[in-house]
Amino acid sequence: MVDLELDGVRRAYAGTTALEDVSLSVAEGEFFTLVGPSGCGKTTTLRLVAGLESPDAGAVRFGGEDVRGVPTEDRDVGVVFQNYALFPHMSVRENVAYGLQFDGPPQRTTKEERVDELLELVDLSGMGGRDPDELSGGQQQRVALARALAPEPRVLLLDEPMSALDARLREQLRRSVKSIQRELGVTTLYVTHDQEEALAVSDRVAVMNAGRVEQVGTPQAIYRRPETAFVASFVGDNNVFEAEVLASNDESTVVRVADAEFRLPPTDAAAGETVRFCVRPERLSVVDPSSGATASSRSAAPPNRLTVDVETAEFLGDTTRLYCRWADRQVVVRTPDVPDADRLDVGFDPGAATFF
Ligand code: ATP
Repeated sequence: MVDLELDGVRRAYAGTTALEDVSLSVAEGEFFTLVGPSGCGKTTTLRLVAGLESPDAGAVRFGGEDVRGVPTEDRDVGVVFQNYALFPHMSVRENVAYGLQFDGPPQRTTKEERVDELLELVDLSGMGGRDPDELSGGQQQRVALARALAPEPRVLLLDEPMSALDARLREQLRRSVKSIQRELGVTTLYVTHDQEEALAVSDRVAVMNAGRVEQVGTPQAIYRRPETAFVASFVGDNNVFEAEVLASNDESTVVRVADAEFRLPPTDAAAGETVRFCVRPERLSVVDPSSGATASSRSAAPPNRLTVDVETAEFLGDTTRLYCRWADRQVVVRTPDVPDADRLDVGFDPGAATFF
């Protein structure tokens, strides 16, 4: 069931169109993430849902009902922003209890019990008497989360809640947020510029660019089947190529990039047309130059091979990321090996390539 919907929403500020024709629908209980670069309109979208902004055109609907004109406090939303926004002069308990000021605790419980329940939920039992400045950044965000969840909102809105934290704390907090969200089943709209975080926590992701939604899908679909050049390059490392189609049939497409020919999956494009495709760095494997081709495309022609010059190697523990040059282009390779060579042959299976 659709819980939250944006339908053809437009929002402009003097001189800037922040959102242009944005349509999204979030299902009940879904963890839905808006991801995109700075300025693409994520926060504006979230503020429109919260009722802190109004659309110039289009509608925001909760459970099918247009919420135009409904003030934030009547929208049944809980909001957590990037900068903790806790009241410094109030204890942790008082901060959480503040979340109950409009609606009071759910009927089954008293205010005190509800605060205890929430502190336990965010793993801060026993810290209720502290002041916010006696907590770490991650703990302060847990308090903000507890405060937002206190009245059992219909929709939880999270705007970069982890961006001020260091990497380890961020990972810890994102696991807690995800498990709390699952436990409560609360519909969640999450904003982040961090594509890795978006893939890690979401049921579905909307990738935004310059005020528009480029693609909506599961993390797997966004990663494996990007539909635009922007999504292909923004989400994860990727190698994007522009190519000329040389021949195409039901089984495969042969294309040329620079002086090389590659065999790719079939497409609708005809010979002579220009196409774009991408190959993920982990789908490029280092091959022995004396062998004919990569293991699984040995019989294929062309063999999908590139001889690359390694410029930088980053050892990442489980893999090594190689930034290479090939035909005046950057090619990124991610391999479990730690190659010690300036020049390497790499290859890919046709199925590793995705057109968009
Ligand atoms: P970030 O990740 O940097 O927070 P964002 O994707 O959340 O970016 P928004 O904050 O939604 O982007 O901004 C979208 C566009 O609208 C930007 O170009 C921004 O400068 C502009 N904008 C947002 N709020 C206002 C405002 N109150 N007045 C004028 N322009 C604004």
